[in-house]
Amino acid sequence: MGPVKPTVVNALSVDVEEYYHAVVFREGTRGIPGHAFLSRVEESVGRILALFAKRNVRATFFVLGEVAGGHPAMVRKIAREGHEVACHGDRHELVCRLTPPEFRADVRRAKRLLEDLTGQPVVGYRAPNYSIGRRESWAYDVLLEEGFRYDSSVYPILHDRYGQPGAARFPHAIRRNGREHLIEFPIGTARFLGLNLPIGGGGYFRLLPFAVIRYGIRRVNAREGQPIMFYLHPWELDPGQPRPPMPWRHRFRHYVGLRTMEAKLTSLLRRFRFSTAQDVLGIR
Ligand SMILES: [Zn+2]
Repeated sequence: MGPVKPTVVNALSVDVEEYYHAVVFREGTRGIPGHAFLSRVEESVGRILALFAKRNVRATFFVLGEVAGGHPAMVRKIAREGHEVACHGDRHELVCRLTPPEFRADVRRAKRLLEDLTGQPVVGYRAPNYSIGRRESWAYDVLLEEGFRYDSSVYPILHDRYGQPGAARFPHAIRRNGREHLIEFPIGTARFLGLNLPIGGGGYFRLLPFAVIRYGIRRVNAREGQPIMFYLHPWELDPGQPRPPMPWRHRFRHYVGLRTMEAKLTSLLRRFRFSTAQDVLGIR
């Protein structure tokens, strides 16, 4: 008997960036300039597109402007295969380190480039490393003014770098401006023993047993009747990426579970329904 797919459609997303854009990688290799590393993003994105095509699933690709500029054909291919192209900022700079005008310039530049490449409106945004914290809530106003319809930059968990454990767990309007509103679509969590369990991807997906993730998503879909937002990075499917010297804590967080990632992801796509964020939110 094959797995019975539940009715709730979840959102599947990919943060399109290089392995060397990851904050853990950057911190761990401090002192080695970025240009010393070779680009591997096209190959990794190709692997993801093939996997999605095989399972007939569409996803949202939050593309970094800097990466889109260097790989325009790849961005066009993502759009051509029916996926949603959304914005991951221009240069992977943490929002908490930008002034509001700098942030506006960053998202405007990236949005325009992505729209030029795909010929489609870009309405979704995800901050590098979930760096819109409570002190950066001005960023939501900027996003709304710049024409974005939803943001997906909150992970409602306890985390040393980016968690907001008290934040709302499901899609909701976070800003209104007359008739326009900006929806926040937080990364998926399951409520368990009074805590929010991270089941929405990232290092946790590689670290936790698949059974835990499966249990969590089922619980959210069936009991709460809500979708989860799931995310991954192209470099998480690239066990052959360079491994420069870095402290063991950084090494562990960046490289754990890379070899089993593709199999785990395949299991996830077999068991649950997924589509683009735009689809799940009903944004046209
Ligand atoms: Zn990123």
